[in-house]
Amino acid sequence: MRYPVVLAYHDVSPYPRLSGNWVPPCSFRNHVRFLTGKFNRIDPLNLPFPLPEDGFLITFDDALEGIHRYAYPVMEDAGVKGIVFVVTGFIGRKNLWDAHFGITVRHMSRSAISELSKAGWLIGSHTVSHTALPRLSEDRLRYELEYSKKYLEDLTGKEVSAIAYPFNMYDLRTLNMAREVGYKWGFAGPSLKGGFTSLNVPRIPVFLPDITLRHKMLNFWTAVDVLTTLPARLTPLYMGLRERILNAFQRRWCI
Ligand SMILES: [Zn+2]
Repeated sequence: MRYPVVLAYHDVSPYPRLSGNWVPPCSFRNHVRFLTGKFNRIDPLNLPFPLPEDGFLITFDDALEGIHRYAYPVMEDAGVKGIVFVVTGFIGRKNLWDAHFGITVRHMSRSAISELSKAGWLIGSHTVSHTALPRLSEDRLRYELEYSKKYLEDLTGKEVSAIAYPFNMYDLRTLNMAREVGYKWGFAGPSLKGGFTSLNVPRIPVFLPDITLRHKMLNFWTAVDVLTTLPARLTPLYMGLRERILNAFQRRWCI
């Protein structure tokens, strides 16, 4: 079994992030070039289920400013539309939950989100407050899912049909609530559970170590090639390996 080629990025920025969940813009451009050369573009506004194996999707969690500033122009050049998952309680505010060397990392403004929506991107919810959903009470869970959806629908004037679960954490109750409040798509992280529905689509996170890995070991592949061709059962091993590499390398790379 292979994962559908759904990539989950966080930040695209020239400034290093201690958490490692960012890639430099020049590397991101290489990723997009690789993806458009090997896979077909899937229109985020018309997602088919199951997602076709010969297609790819680029998604961004947290809706950080770097996505609008650095990733969006690269994707426009390549004719690729993305999916961005917005934490509605943090629009225009400083990020609080990732380490970034004291550099201020902001979430996108309302106008940046509107611009992406008008450009054909799918705007999805990443909840109101970026909380681990399985731990919440029934009422709070409903609020996080329902209020963020309505907020973004008011902002964009379009249906918000997709959600990405914060920290990729969800349980059966989360999926049922997502369906109940009207989501058609839910995006998660890598999983060995199988039995994917449109409400727990697995994604492949792309972090800085993927770039260093390629640089050190796999010179003839792009970082994204490693991720998209890896059998699902090997993914946790790979994730552990790259975490070690992240600890060893804290430098900027552009490959
Ligand atoms: Zn997040």
